[in-house]
Amino acid sequence: MKVFKFGGASVQQTEKIQNVANIIRSYPDQQILIVISAMGKTTNALEKVAEAFFEGRQEEALQLFEVIKHNHINTSKYLLVTHFNALMEQLTNFFTEVEWLLHDKPVREYDYYYDQIVCVGELLSTAIVSAYLNESGIPAQWVDVRDIFRTDNNFRDAAIDWSFTSQRVQEEILPLFENSNIVLTQGFIGSTDENESTTLGREGSDYSAAVFANLLNAESQTIWKDVEGVMNADPKQFPNAQFIAELNYEEVIEMAYYGAQVIHPKTIKPLQNKSIPLLVKCFLDKDLPGTVIHNKQVKGLPPIIVLKPDQALIHLHSKDFSFVGEKPVADLYQLFSDIKIKPNLIQTGAVSIQVAIDDKPEKIQKLALDAAEFFEVQVEKGLTLLTVRHYQDGLLQELTNGHSVKLKQQTPQTVQVLMHQ
Ligand code: ASP
Ligand code: MG
Repeated sequence: MKVFKFGGASVQQTEKIQNVANIIRSYPDQQILIVISAMGKTTNALEKVAEAFFEGRQEEALQLFEVIKHNHINTSKYLLVTHFNALMEQLTNFFTEVEWLLHDKPVREYDYYYDQIVCVGELLSTAIVSAYLNESGIPAQWVDVRDIFRTDNNFRDAAIDWSFTSQRVQEEILPLFENSNIVLTQGFIGSTDENESTTLGREGSDYSAAVFANLLNAESQTIWKDVEGVMNADPKQFPNAQFIAELNYEEVIEMAYYGAQVIHPKTIKPLQNKSIPLLVKCFLDKDLPGTVIHNKQVKGLPPIIVLKPDQALIHLHSKDFSFVGEKPVADLYQLFSDIKIKPNLIQTGAVSIQVAIDDKPEKIQKLALDAAEFFEVQVEKGLTLLTVRHYQDGLLQELTNGHSVKLKQQTPQTVQVLMHQ
C-alpha cells in the first residue's frame, strides 16, 4: 500500500487534475490511498469568507463564497461529461451546508466558524478529482475523512485521537481496498465526537497523509509537488538552489522547524515511528527520481538555507538591573505557553533576555503587556531570521552582507542570524 498526497497546486486547473490521473495510471495494480488538498488558493479564499461572516459582513461573505462556488463548478464543467450531474449534486450539498451557516449570526468563537467554513475546500476538490478519475476509467472510492479522523475540539489546530482514528481506518478504510485499488480522501480536516468539522493547521495535508501512512503501515508516502524535490533553499529566493536527493528524517524536522516551507513539520513523526520512507516527487515530471527522506544517515549535505521573514524581536530587560534568574525565565516561559507563542530564538544575558517570535500583533501586544510586570519591554519589528545548517563562513558572510544583524546564535551544525529585512 502506498499513500500519495497532492497539494493545492497539483489540482489547481483542469490540466493538472488530468495529470493526477496520468500519475495514478502509471502505478497499475497498486493499492493507493490518495490525500488531496483544496484547489489552488481556495483555503485562503475561504478564510476571507470566514472573516467576513464573523465580522458581520454577511453579504460580502456570501458573495465571496459565490466566487468559490463558480470556480469549482467551472472546473467540473470542463472536466466531466457523464459524471457531471452526480458530481453537481454532491457539490451542491457542500455549498448548501456553508450557505446555511453564513445565513446565521455568529454566536460561538471565530476558530469554530473558521473550521466549519474552510473544511469545504478539501471536500470540493476531492469530490471533483474523484468524479474525474471514475469518468476516466480509474475506479476511485471517495471518503469523507471526517468520518475517519476523530480530533479534539481545538479548532484550527485540532489534535488527532489516534486510537479512535486507528479503529476507523481498520474498519472503514481497509475493506474499501477489496473493491478497488484507489481510495481518495481529504487532507487537513477531521471531526470532533460531536460531528463538528475541525482543521489540523494550515498546510496540514502532508500530516494527514502521514497519519494514514502510519495507520495503514504503508510502504511509502509520496508528496507530489511542483518542484523537483527538496532543495537546499527556496528557489524563489535563491535561483541557484540545489536539489537534494536524500535526507534523514531529523534533517527535515530541523528544516521545517526553522521555517522551510518544504513539508509540514508534524509530518515526519508518524512516518519515522514506523520507518516509512517519504518521497517528495515532481508532479510535472513523474519520472524524475525526487527526494527520499528516511532513517539513514546522509553525509555531505550542502548548506541548507532557510529564511523566516516577519520576525519581531522582544527585548526584555530586568527592571532594577537584578540578574535574570530562574524565576523570571520560568514566568516568561509560562507566558509563552499561555499566549501560545513559539519563540524562534532566545538569548539570555545577565540582565536581559531577547526573544525572536513571528510578528503576530495581538500576541505581541499581550506578551509585552504581561511581561511588563517583571521586565522593561521593547519590541523591534521588520526582521528576518536566517538559518543555515552545515554552514560555511564565506556563505554566511555573503548572506548577511548589507543587513544589520541584531542577534546571532551558533552551534557547530547550525547558525541563526536575526537581521533587518
Ligand atoms: N488546504 C490547506 C491549506 O492550504 C491544507 C493544505 O494545503 O495542506 O492550508
Ligand atoms: Mg497546500
